Amino acid sequence: MLNNKKLVIAIDGFSSCGKSTFAKAIASKLGYIYIDSGAMYRAITLYCIQKNLISEQGIDADKLKLLLHEINIGFIYNPHSQTYETWLNGTSVEEAIRGIEVSNQVSAVSQIKEVRQKLVALQQEMGKTGGIVMDGRDIGTVVFPQADIKLFMTASSDVRAKRRYDELLEKQVSVSLNEIKENIEKRDHLDQTREESPLRKAEDAVLLDNSFMTPTEQMDWFMDLIHPKN
Ligand code: C5P
Repeated sequence: MLNNKKLVIAIDGFSSCGKSTFAKAIASKLGYIYIDSGAMYRAITLYCIQKNLISEQGIDADKLKLLLHEINIGFIYNPHSQTYETWLNGTSVEEAIRGIEVSNQVSAVSQIKEVRQKLVALQQEMGKTGGIVMDGRDIGTVVFPQADIKLFMTASSDVRAKRRYDELLEKQVSVSLNEIKENIEKRDHLDQTREESPLRKAEDAVLLDNSFMTPTEQMDWFMDLIHPKN
């Protein structure tokens, strides 16, 4: 399947099931660009927090819509960390967008139609030359319905919560396992039930449940998928 064609690889699935780690590994193996679409929704959420657009009553969607044109999001390579970082209006926000405050609000912000329209257009532009791996919730269904390869990833919520917990512990972010599990389940629910581009498996996506797979097994599985041995 590979030949010389630069493929578009779409990876969707539930929160915290290792989509971005896997997408990054695939991009690095194939020499492709990796785009974390969730980081873009997180950056808009951080912007809302910075501008006090979120209160107990919810998000001031009308105000956000008026301000959308002034939100610039991109990915810039950091030679020190040797990774691409998410930038919001001239500042690296890679760390700030991963905190629990953003995690708690992001699924509500990503329900707003105009937010999705803006980000989908940007994502389509980023992927138009191919050679890209993008992960998210609507990549195979809305952003790249013609993607060459579509994966839909899942794992049990206990496994996912434990993985995210370990990741945050390593970064010395203090949060309880329970809080993480609750956040994951709430986001799953909001993502699947929203009106705008709900999370769902595209009919032609291949399902991958990685609850009991190691990263190596996962990569072997993927290479078999794109390079069947017989
Ligand atoms: O991938 P990540 O968990 O960082 O995404 C954060 C949130 O952004 C998701 O829970 C979802 O609400 C939203 N999202 C989305 N569409 C995408 C990517 C992320 O709605 N393509």
